[in-house]
Amino acid sequence: MAPFAFSTEPLDPQALQASLADPSCGGYAAFEGWVRDLNEGRRVRRLEYEAFEALAVREGGRIVAEACARFGVRNARCVHRVGDLALGEIAVWVGVSAPHRDEAFRACRWIIDEVKHRVPIWKKEHYVDGDSGWVNCERCATAPREGHDHDPAHDHTHDHDPAHGHAHDHAHDHAASTPPTTRPRNPDYSRQMTLREVGAEGQRRLRESAVAVVGAGGLGVPVLQYLAGAGIGRLVVIDGDALEPSNLHRQTWYALADCGRPKAHLAAARINALNPDVRVAAHARRLDADNAALLLDGCDLMVDCSDNFATKFLLNDLAQTLGIPALLASVHQFEGQLQVVDPARGSACLRCLWPEATRDGVVGNCAEAGVLGPVPGVLGSLQALEALKILLGLPGRLGDELLLVDLLEARMTRLRTGRAAACRSGTCAPSAAGLAAARARGGRASGRGEASAAALELDFDGLAQALSAGYAVIDIRDPAESAADPLPEPSPGVVKRIPIAELLAGRNLPTDGRYLLVCARGLRSRTACETLRERGLQDVWSLRGGAQHLAARP
Ligand SMILES: [Zn+2]
Repeated sequence: MAPFAFSTEPLDPQALQASLADPSCGGYAAFEGWVRDLNEGRRVRRLEYEAFEALAVREGGRIVAEACARFGVRNARCVHRVGDLALGEIAVWVGVSAPHRDEAFRACRWIIDEVKHRVPIWKKEHYVDGDSGWVNCERCATAPREGHDHDPAHDHTHDHDPAHGHAHDHAHDHAASTPPTTRPRNPDYSRQMTLREVGAEGQRRLRESAVAVVGAGGLGVPVLQYLAGAGIGRLVVIDGDALEPSNLHRQTWYALADCGRPKAHLAAARINALNPDVRVAAHARRLDADNAALLLDGCDLMVDCSDNFATKFLLNDLAQTLGIPALLASVHQFEGQLQVVDPARGSACLRCLWPEATRDGVVGNCAEAGVLGPVPGVLGSLQALEALKILLGLPGRLGDELLLVDLLEARMTRLRTGRAAACRSGTCAPSAAGLAAARARGGRASGRGEASAAALELDFDGLAQALSAGYAVIDIRDPAESAADPLPEPSPGVVKRIPIAELLAGRNLPTDGRYLLVCARGLRSRTACETLRERGLQDVWSLRGGAQHLAARP
């Protein structure tokens, strides 16, 4: 049984399937490309295929052998028609049998893509109006990726959805008509391997790495692009959302026509088109505590590209329990921050800085707060870079630090953070034991009630009253927020400005001072106040109702 063959006779899929039967195989996947009646608006009557057979059979055989080795499948075959074909006939058939379905699907998909790109086959179309022409030939010699050449991203999600087993393409779309010299066969990492810090050894490390990217949106797009381009061996994409038109200004590798489709699947198709060497597992669901261990199994690094605190805290806690470092990032309007949570290296975790997992609504997400597209682009690029540095073991990585990025001011700041004592003893994460211990201590993990809120808040008629009572007033809002809606200062410069991230990241205030923290509505200031009290500041308070409340006063 030749792994790759041509046939002048119509193909018999049943017989071809039977030739791959194997009692050790539990999965079988096949692909059929059919002759369709339309191409570029012209009605098609029939087709002719011609191949440079000696070369094509050798190259086709190589592709099938590579697929068997690469995906670990038992049996694979591809048969392509030559000569005259009528509408509806099978132009190409690929079949794979394997111990499990996943490798069968992936090998099948890979073979058809490689055949299309590498095997010298040409197609002549005969149109209803009597005209005829060789398709693609002249065009592909000069501009291989333009024109009606199909988009693999669409194959993946529209035509070849492997969930349906037999996928049907149309011969017009997929016909392998490109001479093999016009397309590269393998990804070329030479530009990064030239770096002394990478080299062949670094490239091998990247190929052997597995990275989970949680969220395939504004941050996830650059992260996935660069990690796929760099040749990471395995990428796990987890995103439960479908693409929306409002995403596209910052998620620019998707297409308007893709709206409504799951981003995880769209991203997988994009990665496949960019670098078929990368093995992708796409999960169109939200990461949660129940599915996390399964989805993240075998990963070396988790990259948080989510837009909600629940997921960030979940990844933070998983870093502690699974021992996988987490690279967290968040974006707010023109600012963002980056943090690596790696218990093995002794870094602070998210809970060291933000003690409760209930911060959604305290800092707005992109939908509520607004964002310019390049802002998550920059932060995602920084995450991709930091991820590569971690995987390659390069110097200069973020340690026990928070990287603050202010893109309105074009400023980056590295702040020392400092791991909390509770974190070092393993109780920062709310494991069952940690929660019980915290409750026993009467600690914060049992939740913050109204009574404790009252104990953190003060009410003033105006800032002058607070200042004269001896309080240093600190505006903890982001600089852009403060500039847009300045506090009514009794005299210029009496209000200090320390953004909350900076304040909680370890900016040390003298412990004997009296402080009144002000944010927009009194939520963030209460959180900050609570955290500072835990750090030993006794006389720190939150202005009830925040700036909004001050503005409402006569
Ligand atoms: Zn911690």
